[in-house]
Amino acid sequence: MDELSTIVGPAHVRTAPGAIAPYARDATPLHSHPPDVVVHPGSVDEVAAVLRLATRKRVPVVPRGAGSNLCAATVPLTGGIVLALTRLNRIREINAEELLAVCEPGVPTADLASAAAAQGLLYPPDPGSRSVSTLGGNVATCAGGLRGLKYGVTRNYVLGLEVVLPTGEIISTGGRLWKDVAGYDLTRLLTGSEGTLGVITEVTVALLPMPGHSACGVAYFRSLVEAGEAVTRVITGGIVPATLEFLDQRCINAVEDHAQLGLRRDAGALLLFGDDGDAAQVATHLDRIGAICADAGALEWTVARDVVESEALLAARRCSLPALARLGPLTILEDVTVPRPRLAEMVSRIDAIAERHDLTIGTFGHAGDGNLHPTCVLHPDDEAAIVRAHAAFSEIFRDALDLGGTITGEHGVGAAKLPYLAQRLGAAQLALLRRVKAAFDPAGILNPGKLGS
Ligand SMILES: Cc1cc2nc3c(=O)[nH]c(=O)nc-3n(C[C@H](O)[C@H](O)[C@H](O)COP(=O)(O)OP(=O)(O)OC[C@H]3O[C@@H](n4cnc5c(N)ncnc54)[C@H](O)[C@@H]3O)c2cc1C
Repeated sequence: MDELSTIVGPAHVRTAPGAIAPYARDATPLHSHPPDVVVHPGSVDEVAAVLRLATRKRVPVVPRGAGSNLCAATVPLTGGIVLALTRLNRIREINAEELLAVCEPGVPTADLASAAAAQGLLYPPDPGSRSVSTLGGNVATCAGGLRGLKYGVTRNYVLGLEVVLPTGEIISTGGRLWKDVAGYDLTRLLTGSEGTLGVITEVTVALLPMPGHSACGVAYFRSLVEAGEAVTRVITGGIVPATLEFLDQRCINAVEDHAQLGLRRDAGALLLFGDDGDAAQVATHLDRIGAICADAGALEWTVARDVVESEALLAARRCSLPALARLGPLTILEDVTVPRPRLAEMVSRIDAIAERHDLTIGTFGHAGDGNLHPTCVLHPDDEAAIVRAHAAFSEIFRDALDLGGTITGEHGVGAAKLPYLAQRLGAAQLALLRRVKAAFDPAGILNPGKLGS
């Protein structure tokens, strides 16, 4: 501890049980293990010195942003150091001419979005957790969000990274350039590496001009099969809206109980659609999407009349998780992706699995991306139900793979999904991942028990 105190200052090293307890877990239920020490570095040089020390002494280090991940990616499974990066929270530059921002890793996503908006610029990735999640965490998990269909996910905006390797070397990958193919694309490799290859200490992201107008609409369907059909017809109809989200009937009712937004409780599913750009074009797109939904059998569709109504519709999607969480004290939120045309089939399979295991599972997600969040609500004292939930989710992962999908679309692998990774990647690719990990982190100190283990 003395050496850590010398590096970052005694005020930034925590070992008291009360101070380290919050770092034993993240937003993932049922996973926890305390670190030995929590260190809050204040500069890249301090990060490098901590990592050099940890490699020399073979002490595990778990990088951490806001701890909002949903796959136990920051649980320090074998103790050691939690390296909390939230002191590094300055936006260093927003450059309207170069359309980019340079930030420290602890900047909350929403702070960057607001600062960019103040200069008429858009930072598109918008995870539901954006008010707390950090840019470093977003990059390390390649976070998605509600605008993924049109704008892509975090990886589409990362231009460059400053990263400290576990050995203490500081590297810069990519940078401010829009075109640069010098060497392997380490920026892409590090994006989504879940704190297992290096510690991100600076992020350069691309920005876009802020669209002049945005608006939303909603369509109600008897079933998710009809909603899924509407999604396919929207895309094949030549429209790629910014937002195309769905809620199943359980979610609609939970949201309505929670927030009284006036949603139609008798619907089997709803589709929330939104677009941005030129006002006239947005209005045309939303009307066309509504008409396509009607053709696909929608019970009803409407377009929000103003920003307040649009925000209320988006709130329906954003509050799905807290609304479901009110149904039981333990909420397990999962994350699978299937090819878009298989979305409805995947939801039917999830419903059948929930029924077979006698579980309450509501499903919402990013219909346009084929990304579903089946969410199981139960009681933490009901051990039998927890066992059934684990069995149900492993069937859900198997079925997603069976439909040509994946075990995680945006939340990451962490410790929670590691047991399923081989099913997705196969033995040869998993072995390659481990060799990549060993090349970056020969002593195996960085986030052990996660990707690359
Ligand atoms: C209510 C809610 C809604 C959510 N909505 C979404 C959503 O819409 N889309 C989505 O993709 N996710 C969502 N998430 C999940 C989560 O918020 C994201 O994964 C987010 O990117 C995590 O950011 P964080 O700062 O909390 O990172 P943490 O949870 O602290 O860390 C996540 C991973 O990144 C690593 N890491 C963190 N900082 C660094 C760094 N500087 N250098 C290297 N590695 C680092 C950690 O080791 C860990 O592996 C949601 C979570 C909640 C609770």
